[in-house]
Amino acid sequence: MSTHATPMSITPEIASHVLHHFGHGGYEAGTFTRHLLSAMDTADPANLARLGEAFPGYAAAIVGIKYDPEGVPALQRMASIGLTCITCGGTSGPFISSYSHTLCEPCHQGQR
Ligand SMILES: [Zn+2]
Repeated sequence: MSTHATPMSITPEIASHVLHHFGHGGYEAGTFTRHLLSAMDTADPANLARLGEAFPGYAAAIVGIKYDPEGVPALQRMASIGLTCITCGGTSGPFISSYSHTLCEPCHQGQR
């Protein structure tokens, strides 16, 4: 019984939960998942790997947001939630996001 989950198993829901845990938007998970995220956040690599066998999507998202400088915008793109273009106010995306601002692709293209 194996689903062979990969880092690509980060769903919009997982991305939103992890973003919220680290204070970057998203939305709050249920009680169990909040504890799971706290455990993963504080785990050393060996324990994180163990947790990741059971919850690969969450583990991948945690690793991404903690160790990848592009982790936050990457997860925000995966979540595609709570993002609003700062130019046109559109919420449909796709978005080009950075730490400081979010633009939808049409507005991004229109910039110099
Ligand atoms: Zn826009």
